[in-house]
Parts: sequence; structure tokens; C-alpha cells
Amino acid sequence: MSKEEWYADGLSFECTQCGNCCTGPSGYVWFDDAELKAMAEHFGMTPKEFRKTYAHKVHGDWSLNETLTQHGYDCVFLRRDEQGKALCSIYNVRPKQCRTWPFWPENLRSLRAWANAAQRCPGMMKGLQGEGVFVPIEEIRIRRDATNK
Ligand code: SF4
Repeated sequence: MSKEEWYADGLSFECTQCGNCCTGPSGYVWFDDAELKAMAEHFGMTPKEFRKTYAHKVHGDWSLNETLTQHGYDCVFLRRDEQGKALCSIYNVRPKQCRTWPFWPENLRSLRAWANAAQRCPGMMKGLQGEGVFVPIEEIRIRRDATNK
């Protein structure tokens, strides 16, 4: 077991669709060229059209746009159903950054970092409280190492 992998026995997590990770303070959702292509195709757009409509440039990189709502700065693709559940309207083509949450290196740095992030993510908190879906170390590593941040 690697000394850094305090989560070597796996972690539990289960998204409650609260939407906190897709809103709040203004932030960034980065995407690479393959992700751009997939998102653009989803809308029947060219990558250029997609970027012009749904993204903006930040220091040379592209990030998805946000919409200011009562919840904060929502990702432009965040929708809410009648019960208030958050839904990603491009779920099948969402960028890695979204697919890999909450198994980001900065959250996995330590149990403390994980617990801090859980303050805003009820799905992580469920796991800390012994509920949620068990995610084995192999899967955690895949998501951790896939992040393009
Ligand atoms: S903050 Fe956590 S529980 Fe809420 S939508 Fe995001 S992943 Fe799911």
C-alpha cells in the first residue's frame, strides 16, 4: 500500500444530486479537444460554434460558461427538476473534470482534505458516515489519474 493512499481500502460516495459541485462561487470547468468534440457533436455544432456559444477563454484555456442564479454561478448545463434535484443536461458527454468528482487529487491528498470537501458535498459526507456506494481503490485511481486539471 502506498503511504499516500490513505484511501487504499476504498471510499464510499453517493451523489444526492444537490448540485453544489456545479454551482456556488464562480469557477472553471475545463475541457480538452476530445471533450470539446464530443460536446459539440452532442449539439450538432462545430467545435468553434460550441466554444462561441457555451465557453469562454481564461488565460489561453477554455472553460464552460456559467449562469448566475439564486444558487450561485451555475454551470451553463446545470438544470433542476421540480423537486430541485440537479441534473447535468450533457451528462453523457460531460468533461472528465465532472466525471471524476470527487476523486480529484486535491480531495484525496489527505483524509482532512476529503472531509473538508465533504462539507459542501453531501454525497461524500454520506460516505464518511458509512453510507453510499463503495468505490474500490482501483476505480479511485482511475478517476484520480484521469483528471486533466
Ligand atoms: S456536491 Fe456531491 S452530492 Fe451534490 S451534486 Fe455534487 S457530487 Fe452530488
